[in-house]
Amino acid sequence: MSHKGILVVISGFAGTGKGTVIERLRKQYDNYELSVSATTRSPRPGEQEGVHYFYKTKEEFLHMIDQDELLEHKEYVGNYYGTPRAFVQSRLEEGKNVILEIEPQGAMDIKKKMPDTVMIFLAPPDAVTLRDRLAGRATEDAQKQKERLHRAAEESDMITSYDYIVVNDDLDQTVEEVHQVISAAHFRMGSNLEFVKKLQEEMQMFV
Ligand code: 5GP
Repeated sequence: MSHKGILVVISGFAGTGKGTVIERLRKQYDNYELSVSATTRSPRPGEQEGVHYFYKTKEEFLHMIDQDELLEHKEYVGNYYGTPRAFVQSRLEEGKNVILEIEPQGAMDIKKKMPDTVMIFLAPPDAVTLRDRLAGRATEDAQKQKERLHRAAEESDMITSYDYIVVNDDLDQTVEEVHQVISAAHFRMGSNLEFVKKLQEEMQMFV
């Protein structure tokens, strides 16, 4: 069956735990690559250049857009974020599953360009849990947290545009569920047409 890499988009409101889920997924299973985005926002304490993001000035970011180096890009709460094209394409060709952790508008652009993308929305169990998790993230001031919750409320309209929804309540279970969803995509008919064609041709010997 298909050994081609699958492009996976994981979105979720700020504070849902996307980063933690993806980190665990990569530790527990082979064959996952995380696309590192470019952003104009400043690094949070503990974040590293080239690991969490490629940190750019606005001018550098606009230059990347001009050079068509980004697969998609969007503005989010006052900063730009974008997916570098070259990394995604080369890893998919090597047969890796590539994960994009991006917000819903960029996610929809990706789905339009690459319709086979597996779209997963990671949801919090409920709104109050989300607010409390975000408040526990001491790296942002109250104003930024408010803006992110407001943005999350707007994003909630887009949830039904995703193919799958996984609720992040118990971390171990969430990681397992996300892995199952991605694994199943390897068996989609559209991802196995080469195999099907070969089998159909072989079957002609019985005609
Ligand atoms: P944060 O500042 O919390 O790291 O990210 C803010 C939001 O931007 C999150 O929803 C994250 O998923 C999204 N994001 C990160 N990288 C990209 C990207 O390359 N493109 C788009 N469209 N969104 C991104």
